[in-house]
Formats: sequence, C-alpha cells, structure tokens
Amino acid sequence: MQKTLVLIAHDNKKLAMVQWARRHHACLSRHKIQSTSTTGQLLQEGAGLKVECLLSGPLGGDAQVGALVASGQISAVIFFVDPLTAMPHDPDIKMLMRICDVHDVPLATNPATAECILRSHLLEKE
Ligand code: PGA
Repeated sequence: MQKTLVLIAHDNKKLAMVQWARRHHACLSRHKIQSTSTTGQLLQEGAGLKVECLLSGPLGGDAQVGALVASGQISAVIFFVDPLTAMPHDPDIKMLMRICDVHDVPLATNPATAECILRSHLLEKE
C-alpha cells in the first residue's frame, strides 16, 4: 500500500539526504513523498524522486508538516537535523517533533534511524 512520507534535511545534511534517497530510490519511489521546499528540489534533481514540495522550513514548511502529521496524513517523517547549528525556526522544529510524539508517528533524525524505518514493516510491499 502506498504511504506518505516526509523527507526534510537541514542545509548541512542535505547532501546526506540526497545520498540516502539515491540508495533507497526503489523503495521511496513506491510511496508519496512530501518535503520542505529546498530539500524537495534537491531530491528531485539529485535523486530523481517525484516530490510534492511544501514551504521552505524557515518559512513555515515544518509547521505545515506538523499540521499534516496531526491530521493523520503522514506515515513517517525522515528529518536529518543539524545538531551543531542554531536554527531561526527552532520552535517549528520542536513543534514538529512533539506532534510526531503526540500522534506516535515514526520520526528519524539521522540516517541510521531512517534505515531502521525503511527496513521496518511500515514500508514493505503489501
Ligand atoms: P528546506 O527546509 O528544505 O526548505 O531547506 C528545511 C528546514 O530547514 O527545516
């Protein structure tokens, strides 16, 4: 069954996100992918994925994703965060993480955990 996944990466993690998405293109392309604007454009150009782009994170994209998670439209969020850089939209990032916890939606903040989500039953062919 097709699921909806959100992929987001902070600037210093965008290359890692594109590389990760290239590695998992076969799996990811079976699902609907939504991303914040810049991440989504890079995923389309660099990994050949079809992506529905929301607003850029600092302009409200993370808040949009939070609303989608709260309304039950998202199966998992893969969000490669940069733990070494302060973000102007930190409140939105925290909100998105909290909403994932409130609604028990899987959230991966690094490639190792993202790997676990992709290998889980969640995204297997049905
Ligand atoms: P971006 O947003 O994909 O538009 O860069 C990501 C973020 O910083 O939350």
